[in-house]
Amino acid sequence: ANNAGGVGTISNENSGTDLKNLRVKLVLLGDSGVGKSCIVLRFVRGQFDPTSKVTVGASFLSQTLALEDSTTVKFEIWDTAGQERYAALAPLYYRGAGAAIVVYDITSSESFNKAQYWVKELQKHGSPDMIMALVGNKADLHDNRSVSSQDAQEYAERNTMFFIETSAKTADNINQLFEEIAKRLPRPTPS
Ligand code: GDP
Repeated sequence: ANNAGGVGTISNENSGTDLKNLRVKLVLLGDSGVGKSCIVLRFVRGQFDPTSKVTVGASFLSQTLALEDSTTVKFEIWDTAGQERYAALAPLYYRGAGAAIVVYDITSSESFNKAQYWVKELQKHGSPDMIMALVGNKADLHDNRSVSSQDAQEYAERNTMFFIETSAKTADNINQLFEEIAKRLPRPTPS
């Protein structure tokens, strides 16, 4: 499918071989600078490369993850860069999304407040059975932490999200984040 903005799309698909191949549209939300692009690039390319920003408007990257039960999940990841400037596109971002990642930076309580705004937006526009993850990124900068894990965990529970702290820089918990989403996705019932 073409992306909405007519900008570059990079695909990095592994070919799924097995019977149970799931596909999910995943949207990324969060304040600018919290590390959304770096999380995606770490997951898709296995690199931490803050200089290679590929997202403009509504492009997406895709990556397939193989789970232990031989299910594969193809993530179509929409990095909603510039989402506030493109408010009119919001319905397009949320439409058909089966999962969402709301990111904040553990060293910025402002970004945590902003995350809560995005959670409300998701609750307003998204499908009620969407899998939602609250992600505290830049966990490597724990010496400058200003959002406690406990506060974030409690907030996540109140909003039926799961919570995880990651570092796109060290790769800590990045795969786990996507695996947790994959595990929670509804499985098609056999006919
Ligand atoms: P986005 O605007 O949310 O997409 O944020 P970016 O992915 O562009 O990252 C913003 C800045 O944060 C860049 O300078 C990255 O180098 C830095 N960054 C991203 N993730 C991490 C992380 O896990 N740890 C550290 N220390 N810096 C990070």
